[in-house]
Amino acid sequence: MENQTPIAKTPSVFGHAPSLISVTTNRFPVWMSRHPIQWLVSVAALIALLTLLCLGWIAYTVQHGLIQSSGERLVQAATHAAQQLDSSILERYRDIQLLSTTPMVQGQSPEALKAYLRRLARSHPAYRWIGVTDSQGKIIASTDPSLDSPDQSRHLWVQQARTLTDANILDAQTGETSGETLAITIVAPLHSPDRKFLGAISAVLDIPSLMTPLNTTVDTLKSSEWTGKSHVEYHVVNKNGDLVASSTVYEGGNLKQLGLPSAALVKQQERGFIEETDLHRGISVITAYAQVAVANTAPPQSWGILIHIDRENVLTPIRSFLKELSVLAILILLPLLGLVLGMTKTLHEELSATKREFQRASDAETVLRKRTETLHALIVAAQCLAAEQHIDGLLRQLLHLAKQNTGARYAALVIYEGNTHASIQFLTAGTDEAAAHAIRLIPFSQITQEFLRQGNGVIRLAHLRAHWDASELPQEHAPLTSFLGVQIRCHDQSFGHLSLANKATPHGDKGEFSAMDEQLLITLVAQAGTAIQNLQLLHDSKQQARHDSLTGLLNHSTTLTVLTQELLRAERSRQPLAILIADLDHFKQVNDTYGHLIGDLVLRETAKRLREASRLYDLVGRIGGEEFLIVVPNCDLDALRECAERFRSSISNQPFETQNGPLAVTVSIGATVWSSEHPVSQDLLRKMADYALYRVKHNGRNGVDIVPHPQVVEMNEMRKTA
Ligand code: GH3
Ligand code: MG
Ligand code: MG
Repeated sequence: MENQTPIAKTPSVFGHAPSLISVTTNRFPVWMSRHPIQWLVSVAALIALLTLLCLGWIAYTVQHGLIQSSGERLVQAATHAAQQLDSSILERYRDIQLLSTTPMVQGQSPEALKAYLRRLARSHPAYRWIGVTDSQGKIIASTDPSLDSPDQSRHLWVQQARTLTDANILDAQTGETSGETLAITIVAPLHSPDRKFLGAISAVLDIPSLMTPLNTTVDTLKSSEWTGKSHVEYHVVNKNGDLVASSTVYEGGNLKQLGLPSAALVKQQERGFIEETDLHRGISVITAYAQVAVANTAPPQSWGILIHIDRENVLTPIRSFLKELSVLAILILLPLLGLVLGMTKTLHEELSATKREFQRASDAETVLRKRTETLHALIVAAQCLAAEQHIDGLLRQLLHLAKQNTGARYAALVIYEGNTHASIQFLTAGTDEAAAHAIRLIPFSQITQEFLRQGNGVIRLAHLRAHWDASELPQEHAPLTSFLGVQIRCHDQSFGHLSLANKATPHGDKGEFSAMDEQLLITLVAQAGTAIQNLQLLHDSKQQARHDSLTGLLNHSTTLTVLTQELLRAERSRQPLAILIADLDHFKQVNDTYGHLIGDLVLRETAKRLREASRLYDLVGRIGGEEFLIVVPNCDLDALRECAERFRSSISNQPFETQNGPLAVTVSIGATVWSSEHPVSQDLLRKMADYALYRVKHNGRNGVDIVPHPQVVEMNEMRKTA
């Protein structure tokens, strides 16, 4: 019973029309109403993606700009340092050049020359050693005798001085044991006025001392441009790529071997910068390079200054800036995201509410339309039922209309026998033989006993099968699902019920009957009940007009009408037709002796016995007080006597039971036959029967006489009786 739909107690279909809901009919865009969340999430994802792309682009641009500006700044610093180094070497060169042309050097006492050289050496820290030789290469004077041998003739610089016409700068010396660049040498020849070689001057410049401007530049770069923790290096290389000086000590002493492309680039371009990998340290660096044009060298040579900084150091500020920006973005975006999500939720809720509102309006519209359709169907059904003239047809019409208007697949109508629920008539409508059979198997008596006496006499079940299982009812032949049954009442008495099964929907047979179906069925059945009642009344009034109220037999006029019809039929079919006139004997005495009530009783009993003695197609009518006309179709002369005798004996052979005891009553019967051989008019036919009756009365009553044809009857005698 769990699955059973409770009996609906809904208001009338037409009782409470729903209030009209005012809703605009503008529809949401389909894409938005179907996938609002997906749409909003997609937009949010797109915005996030665009934001990320923008941030990426900004980071790239800023990083690129930063590298560019850092490179340029390094180039500036390298160029400046190169100029300083260049001018510092040039100043030392001029010192020595000037010294070589000063007459004071020639002819001076060695002591005075030494003192002069020492003063000169003290004038700049780059001077490591200054010495003057004679034409043989022997030292005349020097700043530090402990550092040199008196005979310098075998040294390269003395030999080169012999070939020089002016002061010159030799290439940087490298350490004999470490290979490290230690110093550069300025050499100047001493000539007499007549260009005779008199000796040579040599000044050894200490390279680390010359690098002071570069150290200062690096320190400045570190402190002003980047943080003190930045790794900034410089290298000075000669045109062969040999390391002349460096802020970092490398074992190789050759930058080419360290794989810095900038070492090669500086030979080709005056200045510039490049991003490269410092293979020695394995990291990316930005290297700026600038050429140092060392003047007056033989052979001509140029140095290159490389200053590089770790790429990471350059990007550290932007990295930390981006980190801060990310934190800031998260701090801003998170509440923004929350806001967007909140708005999305609100929007979604509003959208859902609006959709529900639309659905509600649509449902209300559907209900209204259905109700209108139902009303229309009921009006049509009422007209159909009212137009029916016969109860049988009306019941069939009711079955058909109920099935059609509720959308039931199967329908059955049962009419009871009297006050019992035993079926006397069973009509079904459905397409399936098995289902029609199953309808017959539905134990209506049990269901009706259980439900139909309740409420409005309606059963509405969602699952008839479940109900059966619960009631332990027969399992076989049950393709039925939903069920709707209602009693048919007339004169406050139930005389049958109408059952519908398997509500059909556009999606199949699994639907359920609605409250509206139930109300429609109730209204339809009530309408049918009224129509049946009207037909009954009509039938009754017709009966009254055609029948004798005392005996229930056809009355006088109807009897004659029927006789006329039967005569016409006999003429058409050329079949014989017998008529009998029966008249009770001495009936006046019965009235006089026992009273009219007993007389009436005798008349009713006489009518009953004549009806019982008649065959199916015989007609019995009362044409006078105690006079009856019996029409017997298809009865010829041969059969007539036995027929008439059967009617007579039915009266005369059995006394009538009255309250005064048994009463013997006899009857006289006059009969005749119409045949195609002796066709007579109705009037004459009746006269012939009357004449036969007269003869029975005349001969003593309680008998039968037959007039076979009109010639037999003396016209005079006929006139006499008339
Ligand atoms: P006969 O044998 O010659 O036919 O004699 P009869 O007495 O039967 O015939 P009669 O014509 O003299 O009498 C007929 C009687 O039938 C007269 C009347 O009181 C009676 N009668 C006619 N109609 C009714 C009726 O509806 N009820 C009763 N109780 N009597 C009726
Ligand atoms: Mg009579
Ligand atoms: Mg009589």
